[in-house]
Amino acid sequence: MKPVVRSVLDAIGDTPLVELSRIGAGLPVSLYAKCEHTNPGGSVKDRIAKAIIEDAEARGLLAPGATLIEATAGNTGMGLALVCAVKGYKLVCVMPEKMSHDKRAALRSAGAEVMMVPNAPVDSPENFQNVARRLASERGWFLTDQFRNEANVRAHEEGTGPELLAQCGGAIGAFVAGAGTGGSITGVGRFLRRACPSAKIILADPLGSALAEWVRTGTPSGDGSYAIEGIGQSKPPAIMDRTVIDEAITVSDDEAFAMTKRLVREEGLLVGGSAGVAVAAAITYAKRASPASGPVIALLPDGWDRYRSKPWMSAWGE
Ligand code: PMP
Repeated sequence: MKPVVRSVLDAIGDTPLVELSRIGAGLPVSLYAKCEHTNPGGSVKDRIAKAIIEDAEARGLLAPGATLIEATAGNTGMGLALVCAVKGYKLVCVMPEKMSHDKRAALRSAGAEVMMVPNAPVDSPENFQNVARRLASERGWFLTDQFRNEANVRAHEEGTGPELLAQCGGAIGAFVAGAGTGGSITGVGRFLRRACPSAKIILADPLGSALAEWVRTGTPSGDGSYAIEGIGQSKPPAIMDRTVIDEAITVSDDEAFAMTKRLVREEGLLVGGSAGVAVAAAITYAKRASPASGPVIALLPDGWDRYRSKPWMSAWGE
């Protein structure tokens, strides 16, 4: 039984690692899923929200009742909203229009101010990251800056990575994750490079993202069109470290959505589309893995509740 915790912040992390025994049947290695959708805010981003705010507090950057601003696809916003609720800070989220209505509504209900901006490339002044940076400097708000803040990487290097290795009894064959900021894959990758150097670190990238080609050749390239939310980029994020990634596997929207449906219907894992990308890539890798290499782990970043009104998911019930 888990003991009483002082606040919901102490319930972040220590997520279950679940064997995908139906989806992974017949593979030469075990396939495991790190269930980050079971965090209190419904995603892996609770970890970095807590880490970024505690880091800023430790550096004396946050006065009581301060306003924080972030450029977010939604999940980081929800993580920040629950940390701000517990700690008494105000939150502004800048979101690209592509992101689901469910995410906007949830953030507003949790007390955040949400500003929508066009889906603009990273070098445009309209881009959500550039708008957040500009508002932070104009209004004196604290920019949590998940795309550049090293506390994002550290949350995974000191949290997610060590948890995984302990759950696997010290042996991991491969870790497979998508990248939005690149915090998850960079942090877990850095930790495993030191603690389990034989583990392969695999980027699961949506078809159309430029990151897979960047991992393979050092030059980003992709047409940028895909429906999966939260992962893939047209340019590599500042904190993403290519040197800890061994390989990139590309997954189409259709493959990802089909795998997400299987995760829900065959494994009872109520996850969003980026989990389908990670598991589809993990299976591609696992098919050619050596049986002695250890389990292949896919990171499931968030829950399905934010996507149920999206056409790809609402079509399942018809
Ligand atoms: N999946 C979803 C749905 C996300 O919102 C994000 C973060 N934007 C990720 C995966 C990727 O996580 P990271 O930022 O650690 O690369």
